[in-house]
Amino acid sequence: MATEIKDFSKLCIHTMTNKPWDLKQCIENYSAAGIHGITIWRNVLKNQKLNDTRKMLEDYGMQVVSVARGGFFASADKDKRRSATEDNLRAVYEAGAVGAPLLILVCGADKRQSLEKSREQIMEGIIRILPLAQDAGVKLAIEPLHPMYAGDRSAVNTMAQANKMTKAVNSGLLGVAVDVYHLWWDDKLKEEIHRCGKNGKLFAFHISDWNVPATDFLNDREIMGNGCINISEIRGWTEEAGFSGFNEVEIFSEKYWSQDQKKYLEQIKNAYLNYT
Ligand code: ZN
Repeated sequence: MATEIKDFSKLCIHTMTNKPWDLKQCIENYSAAGIHGITIWRNVLKNQKLNDTRKMLEDYGMQVVSVARGGFFASADKDKRRSATEDNLRAVYEAGAVGAPLLILVCGADKRQSLEKSREQIMEGIIRILPLAQDAGVKLAIEPLHPMYAGDRSAVNTMAQANKMTKAVNSGLLGVAVDVYHLWWDDKLKEEIHRCGKNGKLFAFHISDWNVPATDFLNDREIMGNGCINISEIRGWTEEAGFSGFNEVEIFSEKYWSQDQKKYLEQIKNAYLNYT
């Protein structure tokens, strides 16, 4: 059983959840709504002076939980792997500059090669950026994605694979982000979350819900309680595993993006108290 959620002290919102808002609007509205955790997607950092961004976050009392996202290490094309490394070094730098302790990794896949090969390249890519992450004080979290993305977005699709990879890389800087949208179907999820926590690798927890029937597997996520995911039970497993960080709302939804974002934020807060 998960502990009861009574307030918003552990609530974090991903800026992509309110895609129509720029970073300043996200910060102003989250802060006004009593929400002080934020995960910043890199699209809203474009053309920002990172020092000013950091100051604005501090002025509004915001805690940056993570920056999303780095990754996309896997490619059959050597030049693409090299440019991915460069982009990830930038992402680590950006995370450090805005005061984020964590960079989320969507690891990548390439249909021209095997998943095994992609996983090797993902490990190599992570190992290449570890020194800068160390210097910047930024940890890295592998986010396993649902297997429907195994052909293009990530060759890491289960907690078991992510746990295996963190063990192989064996760095205190590398852990795992659990996202219920990607992992709820896995009958090994509970034991692998427990294993992850025992290894000290459970770095982040993302929530949303699975719409039934889903019309779009990227941008049709639901608010907690409107779908079929056992969110509260999974949150309980993370707590059993020692996790005490933020619950991060990450909803991609054309439907909600087209609505009034302030009202939508209130819906999220309500669902957070009642269905998380
Ligand atoms: Zn996520």
